[in-house]
Amino acid sequence: MYIISLKYIIMNKATRKTVIAGNWKMNKTPDEAVALIEAIKAEIAGKDTSGCDIIAGVPFVDLAVVAKAIEGSPIKLAAQNVHWAASGAFTGEISADMLKAVGAEYVIIGHSERRQYFGETDETVNKRTAAALAAGLKVILCVGELKEERLSGITEEIVAMQVKLDLAGVSKEDMANVIIAYEPVWAIGTGLTATAEQAEEVCAAIRGVIAKLYDETVAEATTIQYGGSMNAGNAAELLSMKNVDGGLIGGASLKAPDFAVIIGAAQ
Ligand code: PEP
Repeated sequence: MYIISLKYIIMNKATRKTVIAGNWKMNKTPDEAVALIEAIKAEIAGKDTSGCDIIAGVPFVDLAVVAKAIEGSPIKLAAQNVHWAASGAFTGEISADMLKAVGAEYVIIGHSERRQYFGETDETVNKRTAAALAAGLKVILCVGELKEERLSGITEEIVAMQVKLDLAGVSKEDMANVIIAYEPVWAIGTGLTATAEQAEEVCAAIRGVIAKLYDETVAEATTIQYGGSMNAGNAAELLSMKNVDGGLIGGASLKAPDFAVIIGAAQ
């Protein structure tokens, strides 16, 4: 019985898509962005990267040039935010159709920096998610607890609540276009990484929430990434966990050799 269920879990890990995504945040002018893409392409040239999808999440102004630079490479393109309206009086915002028109395939939504500094709430995350999916974008949905929440022992409740609120109204079919990124806020950009066990525990809990919201099939098919100071040194251990299906990587994604090591660890 144990052997059968272990085999089932391992098979599901193998059949889920592993996704290594870089979040460049507010870094790189268009020229610098192209240079970084070229450096990543050079790092992965001749290597088998078929074991994972590779995504670059770039600033809005870099999308068009990066779309061109990744042509013919395995790298896919993500934006870092999207507005929920199709168009209108929303100064400074960008719509899903605009992102698609410049070549974005994915969009990162609900990153903790947007929640912390730009008033993002689960309600707005949910509206952005719905709009992105309706427009045909794939979503990398970020959730994660604050340090105080972890210390209070309520990590799983917080993350479950975010997942439920952020995915409200998202259909079972649309879940095929949703990746969840578990990013403990205390680990983002701090050099503090969750242990592989902590990452596994919360990613498994998120999978359980998705199973309850949808069903086991959807839960087993959903890619759940870990993010928070993942780097060339710790990626292999984190990615070896059975419910960790990839990484959302900030700092280390700006260094082509390090990003390439992480891609290698995901093979
Ligand atoms: C992030 O920006 O999503 C992130 C995880 O950053 P870092 O890897 O730098 O912690």
